[in-house]
Amino acid sequence: MPVPQTSEPRRGVARLPPAPDAAKRALALEAHRRLCAEYGCPITYFHALAPLDELVSSLLSHRTKNADSARAFKALREQFPDWAAVRDAPVAEVERAIAGVTWPEAKAPALQRTLRALTERQGLLDLSHLAGMPEAEAAAWLASLPGVGPKTAAAVLSFSTLRGRALPVDSHHHRVAARLGLIPKTLAVGPAHAVLAALLPDDWDAQQFYDHHQVLMRHGQRCCFFRGPACGRCVLRDLCPEGQARLGTVPA
Ligand code: SF4
Repeated sequence: MPVPQTSEPRRGVARLPPAPDAAKRALALEAHRRLCAEYGCPITYFHALAPLDELVSSLLSHRTKNADSARAFKALREQFPDWAAVRDAPVAEVERAIAGVTWPEAKAPALQRTLRALTERQGLLDLSHLAGMPEAEAAAWLASLPGVGPKTAAAVLSFSTLRGRALPVDSHHHRVAARLGLIPKTLAVGPAHAVLAALLPDDWDAQQFYDHHQVLMRHGQRCCFFRGPACGRCVLRDLCPEGQARLGTVPA
């Protein structure tokens, strides 16, 4: 596969013309193929939560270790009879229950705001209507709730029992995609969701979307580190402008 081009300028690397979308789609597919071979696809879904449970879990997980957000989610389930009770509780009680996550003082009122908005819109705390909606429409509906961005919306659609064709993008996934040249390095995580999802084939099913997110994320965690990416042992190094520059394959 030819070395992909990137429109993103980097100090010491010649600016190249933007790669056509077809080349980026081919690059995304080839990266997916290699990373699936590396990490093993299909990857088992890590959650089988109802959509509303997944929404709460995702809201707790922002910038928080999985174990800590899982503990906070469990504490809410144990200390309150249902999500309506979480919505209506004194905010300090919710904050105490989720004390193990980052910024509990902000997440507790934000969670209650989201649950209140959902109740006002639907008349009850329920997201089951999303099951019959096209993914793009369902993602837009979710993202119109306060505190819900593209990542949380995609997580609810993909990770919950909805098992939708949606692509969550976390910071690891975003970093690998930017270094590969799939997105400009200046593109923030939020808007990167739509750009990266548009590169994936129309006939992919939900599992393939999930696998794509998982393998890009795992690669960021295990090889393409924020500081000191291990380009020398990376299965994508011949595809990656950043890796080639770091390895001296192209003039730096
Ligand atoms: S070659 Fe280096 S920068 Fe590129 S994806 Fe691999 S580890 Fe990341």
